[in-house]
Amino acid sequence: MSSRLVIMHLPPSTTSRLTISLLKIYRGPIIHSMSHSAAEFCKIVTIIVSHGIIEEIRDSDLEPCPGDTKIVAKEGEFLMPGFVDTHTHACQFSNLGIVIHDSGEGHELLDWLSKVTFPTEEKFSDINVAKKVYAAVVKNLLAFGTTTCCYYGTLHLDATKILVDEVKKSGQRAFVGKCNMDKNATYPAYVEKDAATSIDETKKLIEYIRSVNPDTKVDAIITPRFALSCSTDLLTGLGKLAGKYSPPVRIQTHISENKAEIRQTLAQFPECQSYSAVYDKFGLLREGTILAHGCWLDDEELKLIQSRKSCISHCPTSNLNLRSGIARVSEMLHRNIEVGLGTDVSGGFAPSILTEIRHANMASKALELSLLQSSVVPRPSLSIKQLLYLATLGGAKVCGLGKVGNFKKGNYFDALLVSVRADAGNPAVWWEDLEDLEKRLERFFFCGNERNIKKVWVQGNCVKGEANY
Ligand SMILES: [Zn+2]
Repeated sequence: MSSRLVIMHLPPSTTSRLTISLLKIYRGPIIHSMSHSAAEFCKIVTIIVSHGIIEEIRDSDLEPCPGDTKIVAKEGEFLMPGFVDTHTHACQFSNLGIVIHDSGEGHELLDWLSKVTFPTEEKFSDINVAKKVYAAVVKNLLAFGTTTCCYYGTLHLDATKILVDEVKKSGQRAFVGKCNMDKNATYPAYVEKDAATSIDETKKLIEYIRSVNPDTKVDAIITPRFALSCSTDLLTGLGKLAGKYSPPVRIQTHISENKAEIRQTLAQFPECQSYSAVYDKFGLLREGTILAHGCWLDDEELKLIQSRKSCISHCPTSNLNLRSGIARVSEMLHRNIEVGLGTDVSGGFAPSILTEIRHANMASKALELSLLQSSVVPRPSLSIKQLLYLATLGGAKVCGLGKVGNFKKGNYFDALLVSVRADAGNPAVWWEDLEDLEKRLERFFFCGNERNIKKVWVQGNCVKGEANY
C-alpha cells in the first residue's frame, strides 16, 4: 500500500524519525541553480526522497531503516539536477555528424533540410525504422544525463506513437510531438496530404499520450516545424488546438534561425512585420511555446516574445554547425525571457547537453568579441552559474515544469551523481580533486563526458547505474 512519509522535524543532531514508507536517502555535496544569477554549492547535505519527491533537505545525517536505500557520495562525487534538453529531433540521430555535402562545403539550413534531413525523416513511414531508432535514442539520452527531453518526431503518427512508448518504457520525463508540414515540400515525398489530416493526426497523438496508458511524466506537444512548412489553414488550426485542452498542450517550433529562412518567411507572410509576428498572428506565440534558435530576433521581437510569455531553446552547437547565427542569450535573460538549452540533433552533432554548455559559453564569448568591434556595448558572456541554470532550472521553466530543475523541498528528484574522481574513466583529466565545488562543476562542464555521470534518477527512479551504489 502506498502511504505518506511523516518525518519529525527534530534538532539537527537528532537522527530519529517516524516513517511509514520506505525512503531513499542521499548524502553528499550538491550543486543546484536557484535562478539565472544564483546557485547553491553545498559541501554536505542529506536529501530525503519518498515516492520520487524531495521530502526534506537537511545538514544532519539520517540512518536508514530496514528497506530504505542510502547512497553516500564518495570523495570527488556530487549530486546535481538532471539535464533538460528543450529541443531535439529523435528521428535525426542517424544523421549525427553529417552537415558537409559532397563538394566539401558545409550545408546551411534550407539546403540541409531538403538534401539530408527530409529523406531520413521520410524513412519513418516504415514503423520498423522507428522501432529500431527510437529505443536507442531514448536510452542514449538518459545515459548522457538528460532527464527531461522535448522531442520532435516525424510527420508519421504511428512512428511517433512508438517514440511515446519508448519514452514511457524508459522512465524519462518528456514532451513528444508529431511534426506538422503541409506546404513547400522541398523533398516531394515528405509532406502531409493537407491541413485537416495534419490537425486530425495531431489530435490523435494528444489523445494517445494523455488517455491511453497515461504517464504523468510524458505529455504531448504541438509541433509545427516552422512557418515556411505550414499553410495558413494549418497554422490557424494548430493555434486553435493549443487553446482547446486542459491542461493546455505546449507548442514547439523553430524561429529566426537562418537569414535565408527569415527572408522566405517574410515573403510568404508579407502582412507580418516580423517572423515572431507570424506566429503571433496564428495564436502560436503564447505561454507554453518553445521557440528554438532565435539567432536573429531583434529587440521588438524579444519584447513581443516576453509579453506573450513564450520561451527560447538555445541550440548553439547547431547554430554554429549550420552557420546560422548566434542567439543573444544574455540579452534574453536580462529581459526575463526563459531560456534553456537544446541539442537540436542533427543540426547539432552531439546528443549531450554538456556539449551545448560548452558551445553556449563559446558562442557567448564570440558574440561579446564581435560586438566589441562594433559600436554596440555587449552584455557579458555567460557565467558558470548561468550555464548551470540554462542546462537545468532554465530548461525546466521553458518546459513549464514547476517541480523540476533544482533540489527544493517538494520537487521531483531528477538528479545526476557526477564523479570527478580519478577512477571515473577519463584519468588523463581527473588527476587531482578540486575542493572548490564551483571549480569542480566547471571542470565537469568543460572536460567531462557521460563517463562522469555515474547515476541518473528520474522522479526517484534510477535509470542509469545500479540502484544501490
Ligand atoms: Zn530543430
